[in-house]
Amino acid sequence: MIVENNFIKYCTHIRGVKNSTAKHYCDSINTISRELSNLGIYDVDHLYEIDSLERLLEIKDLLANNKEFTELNKKGHQMYSAGLNRYLEFAKGEDITSEKVLSLIDTPVDIKPQMIINERIGAKRDRIIVNQVMHAEGYLCEIDIHHKTFVAKSTNRPYMEAHHLIPLSLQYNVNKSLDVYANLVVLCPTCHRLLHFATNDEKKGSLIQLFDERQDRLNDSGIKMQRSEFFELLELRM
Ligand SMILES: [Zn+2]
Ligand SMILES: [Zn+2]
Repeated sequence: MIVENNFIKYCTHIRGVKNSTAKHYCDSINTISRELSNLGIYDVDHLYEIDSLERLLEIKDLLANNKEFTELNKKGHQMYSAGLNRYLEFAKGEDITSEKVLSLIDTPVDIKPQMIINERIGAKRDRIIVNQVMHAEGYLCEIDIHHKTFVAKSTNRPYMEAHHLIPLSLQYNVNKSLDVYANLVVLCPTCHRLLHFATNDEKKGSLIQLFDERQDRLNDSGIKMQRSEFFELLELRM
């Protein structure tokens, strides 16, 4: 995912912030990112690479207790902490209350070579994105909102899983990035296993339902295809 693009769109389209202010937030995030090694953080080069909310909150605490940073922040009229706070709201999925709200971020994303990756790595990497998508779908299974799971310890919300409707491993066949919000669906564990392990006959109805619901959003993300093309593409994997 192009995190900065998504963050700017979140600020302007969902939070109603001016474009120039959103750019200032990004400058703040970039400045803070350059300071990470001074804070003793060596395992990431940039805040955008951090995939866990807990880690972001830890960094926020480190910064709050760092003299140099608090002075820099004071001189910058609190712009750095404002940018970081806004970014944390984005990561938490604040105000992403429905799929319709999240769809305001949908936009075509060009493919970069490193995007062509294994689906499992992708799913593991994007915990923040998964969190945002779960918020948007209200922690309900998209195949049937009545599907019950259990309350997850980590979120205190119903346990759900995220699934790429068009597997990232098929990126070679599509000319815009598949690693976008529109291509992520929220499923209960049973429906998720169904899509991965059921016979074609068994899963066809669910795939039709999910594709038809997402077709417009995929289209907005530059992934333009008809249902028949979607199935042709999946055949490569089935
Ligand atoms: Zn999956
Ligand atoms: Zn389900």
